Amino acid sequence: MVADGGETYDYDLVVIGGGSGGLATAKKAANYGAKVALFDFVKPSPQNTKWGLGGTCVNVGCVPKKLMHYAGLMGPAMRDAKNYGWQLPEDTPGFNWSTLVEVVQNHVKMLNFRYRVGLKSAQVTYINALARLASPHEIVYERRGVEHKVTAGKVVIAVGGRPAYPAGVPGAKEYAITSDDIFSLDHSPGKTLVVGASYIALECAGFLTELGFDTTVAVRSILLRGFDRQSAEKIGEVMEASGTRFVKGAVPSSIEKQADGKLKVTLVDSTTGAHVMTETFDTVMYGTGRTPDTAALNLEAAGVTVLPNGKIPVNGDESTNVPNIYALGDCAMVDVNFMESHWANPELTPVAIMAGQLLAARLYGKGTDKMDYTLIATAVFTPTEYGAVGLSEEDALKMFGPQDVEVYLQEFSSLELQATKDVSHKDLDEENDMPPMCLSKLVCRKSEGERVVGFHFVGPNAGELTQGFALALKLGAKKADFDKLVGIHPTDAEAFCGLEITRSSGIDFVAAGGCGGGTCG
Ligand code: FAD
Ligand code: NDP
Repeated sequence: MVADGGETYDYDLVVIGGGSGGLATAKKAANYGAKVALFDFVKPSPQNTKWGLGGTCVNVGCVPKKLMHYAGLMGPAMRDAKNYGWQLPEDTPGFNWSTLVEVVQNHVKMLNFRYRVGLKSAQVTYINALARLASPHEIVYERRGVEHKVTAGKVVIAVGGRPAYPAGVPGAKEYAITSDDIFSLDHSPGKTLVVGASYIALECAGFLTELGFDTTVAVRSILLRGFDRQSAEKIGEVMEASGTRFVKGAVPSSIEKQADGKLKVTLVDSTTGAHVMTETFDTVMYGTGRTPDTAALNLEAAGVTVLPNGKIPVNGDESTNVPNIYALGDCAMVDVNFMESHWANPELTPVAIMAGQLLAARLYGKGTDKMDYTLIATAVFTPTEYGAVGLSEEDALKMFGPQDVEVYLQEFSSLELQATKDVSHKDLDEENDMPPMCLSKLVCRKSEGERVVGFHFVGPNAGELTQGFALALKLGAKKADFDKLVGIHPTDAEAFCGLEITRSSGIDFVAAGGCGGGTCG
């Protein structure tokens, strides 16, 4: 037993949820000497997919997605390889979905094992059961039909979220898959309809296209809501040129399974409901947002407030309205009052991890730092990636007004791609033509000496590139600091060292010469 505030409990801390945030919190708290138990349990998806310890990121999120993205990039790379002199055995190398799934799942299982070992060596008690609250200090769970109870001084809720199926679409839940299923799908997806147009839908549609599957995206309204519009549209333009078909302003109204197993989908106009098209697909995948997994937690028994969208509102120190209960990661809604924008409370793994580690340090160590939810960088891993930190052009204009915002930008193509493709900038007549694949953009606030308030890069390796520049924004870099930076040549990133064309000048921002992001020649 442990003592906390004059009471005794089984544990100092019980963490509910063994994903990115929960694991980080539990291990850190145990490192500070707290007696910790962690619950993790995966409810099967409607298609009966299950997975192991580690939560969304490792099992059905970031990790398998990034591996499939990497596999996808090899398709165009192989086509380029021929142009660069590689003599490949066949004209169109074949692709085997089962091999990809096996490699991905073996890696995921290895990580599941490592997480178990990590908990054990940190001396965290791991309980593989679905937990719910009975009171602020009591957590109950069932095992083989028997109810058990543990008590804790403090409770951290980090239960994440699950994919949301839109209501009222006959056949959706029965026949369509989600990101919970795609990474372990035991058969080739074939001709696929992806519904949704944000991170998950576009990333999955991107790698499916690159792997050679006939892929269509049903876009309800716009691509990547909340992101910089121009950057989001650039993603769409490049994906379209690479073979992804977009049906804009459309949503499925029904999905029927035919005798041959194929799925007959009717798409209707998302505003008027008018018929748009009916077509058959081998696979329909929903990427239409995620719902916090809080419904089964019995939060009312502990008096924890929950929002209508299922999120648990928390203060800037992850505390809920109940003094000993905290929430973090995808299931929490941080009251940062930052601005109604995508960046206020992002559902990202490093956010959940850092919030958990800082919380553990404050509760059980000597930590005082709170999580800083501003200027968090992110990347969308579409075939041509998109990295961003700070405000979109639209949000900056809304926040500061047009008189206070200047945007510096350039479109260009990577040197390596220019050399093998006819990157004709605007002309897409030829089959092999591609639009410029890169966009570099700095959004600056004039009244603060052109402090860079938004950084956007669309192009290869945007995730890697954006991470470093995010530090510059955190440190308050101004446009002049970017201008003084000497580039690394030849790279795409060097485009940010001395961007000259402003949005207000009206000058064409598509690079006419130079090599990649550079200005030589
Ligand atoms: P989770 O990781 O979801 O963990 C919650 C855990 O709690 C789960 O294991 C769940 O089963 C368990 N649980 C739920 N209820 C209970 C209960 N009552 N009792 C016991 N256990 C319970 N983020 C990035 O930063 N980069 C990316 O590239 C990226 N790609 C993504 C791709 C996809 C397809 C998806 C879906 C997400 C992606 N994310 C990415 C987001 C990232 O995965 C999440 O932000 C992150 O996993 C959230 O961590 P968490 O700890 O809040 O919850
Ligand atoms: P989002 O909530 O970001 O987007 C949902 C998408 O689905 C939007 O395009 C939305 O369109 C559309 N949509 C919603 N409801 C319907 C409907 N009924 N019919 C048709 N379309 C609909 O969800 P995601 O699932 O893409 O991602 C969830 C979170 O996971 C992200 O916010 C991100 O934090 C995290 N993530 C991070 C990744 C990364 O870091 N690379 C990768 C993947 C996920 P509309 O705009 O019209 O509302």
